[in-house]
Amino acid sequence: MKIKKLQELYDNIASIAKEAERDNSDVSLLIASKTQPIEAIEPLLLAGHRLFGENRVQEATEKWVLLKNKYPDIILHLIGSLQTNKVKEAIKIFDLIETLDREKLALALQKDAPNIPCYIQVNTGEETTKSGITPQHFDEFMEFCRKDCKLNIQGLMCIPPVNEPSAPHFALLHDMASHHNLTKLSMGMSNDYELAIKMGATSIRIGSALFGDRAI
Ligand SMILES: *Cc1c(COP(=O)(O)O)cnc(C)c1O
Repeated sequence: MKIKKLQELYDNIASIAKEAERDNSDVSLLIASKTQPIEAIEPLLLAGHRLFGENRVQEATEKWVLLKNKYPDIILHLIGSLQTNKVKEAIKIFDLIETLDREKLALALQKDAPNIPCYIQVNTGEETTKSGITPQHFDEFMEFCRKDCKLNIQGLMCIPPVNEPSAPHFALLHDMASHHNLTKLSMGMSNDYELAIKMGATSIRIGSALFGDRAI
């Protein structure tokens, strides 16, 4: 039963936060609901959960316009990459963009949604297959987003490489954020969220630990 799993997750997050001497309210659970139908999501809303993430603009629009009408205090983050030609559509449904990662996208956001809160996605593992700005280009990009585009940058997000320990990636993201006075850190997924909380995550993104393994 998903509600039982949700409660277990809340409890586990609380106990890890306590162990790490962090305030439980400083760690948010973002439920990654990609590929999940509305019927799988609504019980979580009925249980009071409000923070969710989706990867694709079209899927999010199809599922969440209805749900947001019904539960107006839902907060929806975009956690998948965003094409510049989808920005206008994206800002209608998403409350925060976690995947700002290139100048072209920063310019598109400046034009259409200069106030939307954003996290910059950092490709901490410098993987060619993954999106995100590389650490060596980060300072320059940060400056571009803040000074040139005047975007509302609140934090950083990363997805560590699958075959590597996550700790060095979380540490790097944490250092980069503190260096730029960014308070939000979106890091940690089903397999490494406990570590992420210990290393300063302010939101963890959970899918399979709640819904079970994805078919795709
Ligand atoms: C799907 C997804 C998650 C959740 O991953 P799980 O391993 O299923 O918890 C987190 N972040 C992003 C960006 C995702 O696409």
